[in-house]
Amino acid sequence: MLDMGMTIGGLQVAGQESFAVMNPATGEVIGSVANASLDELDRAVSAAKAAYPAWSALPYAERQKTLNALADAMEARAGELAELLTRENGKPLAGIGSHFELGGAVAWTRYTAALEMPVKVLQDNEEGRVELHRKSLGVVGSILPWNWPVIIAIWHIMPALLAGNTVVVKPSPFTPLSTMLAVQIMNQILPAGVLNVVTSDDQGASIGAAMAQHPDIRKIVFTGSTATGEKVMQGAATTMKRLTLELGGNDAGIVLPDVDPKAIAEGLFWGAFINTGQTCAAMKRVYVHEDVHDAVVAELVNVAKNMPMGNGMDEGVLMGPLTTPFQHEKVARLVESAAQVGTVQLGGKSGEGQFHETTIVTDLPDDHPLVTEEQFGPAVPVMRYRDIEDALERANASDAGLGGSIWTNDMDKAKSLALRMEAGSVWINKHGALQPNAPFGGVKKSGIGVEFGDEGLMENTDIQVILQ
Ligand code: NAD
Repeated sequence: MLDMGMTIGGLQVAGQESFAVMNPATGEVIGSVANASLDELDRAVSAAKAAYPAWSALPYAERQKTLNALADAMEARAGELAELLTRENGKPLAGIGSHFELGGAVAWTRYTAALEMPVKVLQDNEEGRVELHRKSLGVVGSILPWNWPVIIAIWHIMPALLAGNTVVVKPSPFTPLSTMLAVQIMNQILPAGVLNVVTSDDQGASIGAAMAQHPDIRKIVFTGSTATGEKVMQGAATTMKRLTLELGGNDAGIVLPDVDPKAIAEGLFWGAFINTGQTCAAMKRVYVHEDVHDAVVAELVNVAKNMPMGNGMDEGVLMGPLTTPFQHEKVARLVESAAQVGTVQLGGKSGEGQFHETTIVTDLPDDHPLVTEEQFGPAVPVMRYRDIEDALERANASDAGLGGSIWTNDMDKAKSLALRMEAGSVWINKHGALQPNAPFGGVKKSGIGVEFGDEGLMENTDIQVILQ
């Protein structure tokens, strides 16, 4: 069993207390990690604050070089990190699983390292010169969810460091191990205090809440549920922290009547069931034109019924368990209720432990909780529509606005419909594919701000204008 300490000021800190981490595929306890006190959080923030002046004073190109070294170091230990990730999160090693996540983390780091942050000259004439500078903030606090614990940590950490900030990261209590190991690996390269990790079981004092309120943290980047995001925003108000909030989604996919059901079935499947459905930008509701509805459902069921689910360490497995007992309970409850009203086309039952069968339900009313709530698991509702205007209205009838998708061979129509979707990203003939050069974030209650690309990097800075 692993016994992991926090990394504070470059040192391993065991903490006064600890808590257990479980393998969701087997129920085994696989690790024990430190349960931080508020004092230990303060120590981590102080270490980051102390490291800030030297780190932010480095030439930008030096930090770019350091990020590339971090990518190399993670790449060298990607196999070990991936196995740990599978054991604590449940996602398979293969397919769109742990190796994929580690590959993405390395690629994202390298892409971020190449971003530039030039001074922008807004005016330069006989009346004067106006320059827009980007300044680092200080200590950035990163709060992570459990669904993609390594790559989301990288999304938070890398642009923050590149811009000249130092970081305190807090992983989810369900999946702290892979993030802690990644931070340890990076600390072999980074100066002490530049990157720290604190862990908490969320049972006592909420370390996340204390981070949101902490006077020496200048920005919070938070990925998690909308309910917790609201608390972070409230907690951050008195210190006027900068915020990037990546919150929950209830993404709709709209399938037009001209599609070839067989050709899109695999794309639809992975759009909805990536990471066993536990992905913010997974397709959580599908609206299919009545002309192709039955054929699309049949092809989707065909793909889904052959997708092997099991312990992610086993060869050939492509779907895993729910990562947390709460999430398992939620999916089971939503599916059980949906089965009483709609038609279960596949699955419908809870499996052993934290497993749940891959489930496809049709004929549900729009106000059923499997349609209106974020299920975050291996269950998707497919709804019928006749008129595209009606489909669009139903797709937009949600507080969430993270992603959306249009499935058709008519690109002009796809683009005009995409522009009318209330979502931060809209994909055409795919869903949920993130890339490091495309800013990603939600509208409505799915969040504030974006990550990735120049726009994401700039969220780790304040603007200073020099006018002469
Ligand atoms: P969560 O909100 O339960 O927890 C997220 C983090 O917040 C954890 O580290 C938790 O310990 C911490 N936390 C708990 N209470 C807190 C408080 N009062 N103040 C500050 N932090 C606190 O979310 P989760 O269940 O870990 O993740 C699943 C959710 O995350 C889903 O809703 C999903 O859509 C969302 N998500 C969004 C994105 C995105 O980019 N938009 C990406 C991944 C996941």
